[in-house]
This record gives sequence, structure tokens and C-alpha cells, in this order.
Amino acid sequence: MPPIRNSLTRWGIVSIQTYNVASSSTNDIPFVDLVAQYNRYRPELEQAMREVLETAAFIGGPALSRFERAFAQYIGVDHAIGVANGTDALELALRTAGIGPGDEVILPTNTFIATAEAISAVGARPCFVDVDEQDLLLDLERAKEAVTDKTKAIVPVHLFGQMVSMGPLLAFAKAHGLLVIEDAAQAHGAEDTGGRKAGSLGDFGCFSFYPGKNLGAYGDGGAVVTPDGAHATMLRVLSNHGRAESGGHTHVGRNSRLDGLQAAILDAKLKHLDTFNRERREAAVRYDVLLEGLSDITLPHVRALPSHVFHLYVIRCERRDALRAHLGRAGIATGIHYADPLHLTPAYATLGYPKGSFPVAEKAAREIVSLPISPDITEDQQARVAESIRDFLRGAS
Ligand SMILES: *Cc1c(COP(=O)(O)O)cnc(C)c1O
Repeated sequence: MPPIRNSLTRWGIVSIQTYNVASSSTNDIPFVDLVAQYNRYRPELEQAMREVLETAAFIGGPALSRFERAFAQYIGVDHAIGVANGTDALELALRTAGIGPGDEVILPTNTFIATAEAISAVGARPCFVDVDEQDLLLDLERAKEAVTDKTKAIVPVHLFGQMVSMGPLLAFAKAHGLLVIEDAAQAHGAEDTGGRKAGSLGDFGCFSFYPGKNLGAYGDGGAVVTPDGAHATMLRVLSNHGRAESGGHTHVGRNSRLDGLQAAILDAKLKHLDTFNRERREAAVRYDVLLEGLSDITLPHVRALPSHVFHLYVIRCERRDALRAHLGRAGIATGIHYADPLHLTPAYATLGYPKGSFPVAEKAAREIVSLPISPDITEDQQARVAESIRDFLRGAS
């Protein structure tokens, strides 16, 4: 066995816990093991759900208020507003910021399509930019070049769980009067070197609680956090049919609420989020050690461990498709995040970005593959993934 523990100590991680929970009935390795997590926290999750059922507080209610307060405090902002999903969180933040038709919003071309959809939904134009060669996050220099007199906001996406370097981005945005809307849908709990959390640095921080996210509900859910009281009020109004606190409908809003059951589940799970993230980091370091020195594999680039919560563990390999097929035959689930940079998706063909517009993202899209990772992945499962990759490289070289 490689010296995993030495490597973990290097990162200040002193012990690894392994949980003895039955995951799937087969020997296959799932991409994310949500059943194992449920089994681990079953009593407190069921208690949280029961409280909602027994009081019928399905919409609004104490669980939602409790979770919104706890989440705001955890992220380190004054206000958190629960909404129906992460895409709505982005859209409602953009609407609250007054962004709409005729405006441009800058975002990385390598992100989940929801980031762009939210911009399109308010009638603004998504302006894609290329990503950094190493961490595959928004390249600030490219973002600077994309600014026009119509640009209203930048959306840094903390993709894979790693924070975009926010200092220079915030300074640039401030100097040019641009709003910063963080897409933190993959980065609950990631921290910069100053201990500030993803989502707490921009004008708005947008989160998804899709079940597989680092903090996941048992259905859809999302939240917007903001330091600004007026923005918080507007987010509440817009997400609840334009209804002001007085009861009157002051705006044409919509229905985008986080329901009581999801809030209760999230409130229970939030208490364990730091544990989940620590276990994800331990799993990532384990992969680093298991896959060290393989010449055909590029491991994820990590700037500082606290800034990365490893929503995804993304490696690169020029023979990616064959590698994926090999892993698939061994019963190992993998993913690609994402197969098409957004400027090349059919959905955004109308924007007219030709192939070759963003070479770094386009090359990465052919080589990236996400390995199974979750707080509950076992050392044994990871060893099998690594062995299967080594097996592929031996056979194919
Ligand atoms: C999941 C995700 C979203 C959208 O969240 P939903 O809750 O699925 O609407 C947005 N951006 C990124 C980067 C995501 O990973």
C-alpha cells in the first residue's frame, strides 16, 4: 500500500475514519453513494422529517427559518434565502440585481449549463470566457478581455468544489462597477486562505442542494446568500409570488420556495457538512497517492486544500474515452463535467461562438473524467478504482 497516512499528515489530516455501512448490494462502485449517507445519519434525519410531518409545516415554517439562519451563519453572511433549486438561485440573484435584456454577464464556458440558463432566463446575454489551464476555473485575464460597456456582472463558478481566486476578481469587478454573483453550487464550505467561505465574497452567493451536491436535499433545493438587507428582501419577494411582507403583491414574482421537509433535512445535514468535506478531502488525497506518478494521468490541481471541497475529483487522460469504457467494464461509474463547453452546445449555437474560440476548455473537455467520490467512498473502493486505471494503462501502452 502507498504511504497514504504520510500524505494525509502533510495536509494536516491526522486520522482516516472508515465506516462500515452497507452501500450497494452489488460489487459495483457508484459515482456517489447517497444510501450510505442516509444509513449513517438515519435517526436524526428521520426525526427531522417526522417533526415536519407531525406539524404539517410543509411550506415556510420553523424548519425553513432555522435552516436559513444556520446556513447564513455557516457561510458567514447576514442573509440566506431558501429557493427551489440552484438554477433559480442564480436567476433570482440576477433579477434582484436588475440584470435583464441588453445586459451581458461573463461566465466560464466550462460549467454546468444552469449557470448560463439563469442568465438567459432574465433576458441577458451569457458571455463565455476560457478557463485556466491548470484548475479549469474562470480565467480572470480572459474575463477582463470580455468586458464591454454592456457587461453588468461576472459569475465565478467554484467548479469541482474549488474556489476561484476571489481577491483579484473582486478588485477588478469593483474597479469596473461589475456585480459579482458566485455560483457556489459545487462548493458548500470551501474556504479561501483568509477563512472566508465560497458564496460570502460576492454580492450574491448561489447554492444548489441537489441530492448529490456536498450539501444535498432529498429532492431539489437551493439558496441565495447576500450581505445586503435590501437584496435579501427583494429575493424573498420575487421567490414568493411578488408578495411583500405587508401581504400585497408588489412585484410580478414567481414560486421558487425551499419546502419545509427539504429545509429540515438540510438543517440536520448542515451540522455534518464539515465532516463530509473533510472526508471528501481525505478521499481526494488518497486518490492523489494511489495515482501518483502515472505518466498518462494528470491529477487535479489544488491551490490550497481548504479552498477545495472535492465535489468532484477530475483527472485528465488523452485516451479518456477508452479509459472510461475500461472502468465501466469493471463496474466503476465515472462522469464527464462537462462533455461540451457551453459555447459549443447546440443550446447556445445561436450565440455564434465558433469551434476553437476557447482552446483550453475545448481541449480539457476531451480529456477530463470524474472518478467516484463521496464522503462514504471506502479505501477499498478507491484502491480498486486506482488498480483499474493502472490496469488500463498497462494494457493500452
Ligand atoms: C448543480 C449546479 C447548478 C444548478 O443547480 P440545480 O439545483 O440543479 O438547479 C448550477 N451551477 C452549478 C455549477 C451546478 O453544479
